[in-house]
Amino acid sequence: MRRKLAAGNWKMNGTTDTLREVKALTDAHPDPLVDMLLCPPATLLAQMAWARGTHALQIGGQDCHAAATGAHTGDIAADMLKDAGASHVIVGHSERRSEHGETDADVAAKAAAAHTAGLIAVICLGETLAQREAGEALAVVTAQLAGSVPAGATAANTVIAYEPVWAIGTGHVPTLDQIGEVHGTLRAALRDIMREAGGVRILYGGSVKGSNAAEIFSVPDVDGALVGGASLTAADFSPIVTALE
Ligand code: PEP
Repeated sequence: MRRKLAAGNWKMNGTTDTLREVKALTDAHPDPLVDMLLCPPATLLAQMAWARGTHALQIGGQDCHAAATGAHTGDIAADMLKDAGASHVIVGHSERRSEHGETDADVAAKAAAAHTAGLIAVICLGETLAQREAGEALAVVTAQLAGSVPAGATAANTVIAYEPVWAIGTGHVPTLDQIGEVHGTLRAALRDIMREAGGVRILYGGSVKGSNAAEIFSVPDVDGALVGGASLTAADFSPIVTALE
């Protein structure tokens, strides 16, 4: 049985006062039936870990460097995220791939570093609109999966997030058939990569909201969501958690 995961990515949003949302979320879900994860900017990680108290809210970074230490100004090592209270780290988000030129090999190296530090890597992938319109979506995500999942990945240390680039922050969501087709393809492709493929959680991400979450979660092989905009407030994120429960 794969435990469902409602994950929020705050991206470059949030300052200390935003942490009030943590209390509102944990008050609304004191004993969640699914895993709840928030990935704030690195500046808020330790404070969010403190703000959650003993509640079942997991905390993650949004990126990590592939190296454990060294001369990498502005970067953060996976071990540092762990030290600040993180249990997860997102790697390969499409904004990292497009704005920072990250390749599948970079993503695999970051995921491996996360595993070495004892973090769960949330590995993101997804096709662009041009690739979908060219009929290449399945081939693209399959290649991204093969290139981005490192040796040593297990069901316990790896989560896959399918995020079509054209659905992120746009309000456009693939049809349920399209989501199901990609998730089924990824599940099958995972079986070629690792023994524990059946236990790996595959999240959908891209314009998930309280109003569309339940139908998206009804699609087979959708084990939860990676949510951007609608994770910034408890009022928006809580209905998504509820839809998954
Ligand atoms: C994301 O950036 O991972 C994302 C899914 O964003 P949004 O939910 O805002 O589309």
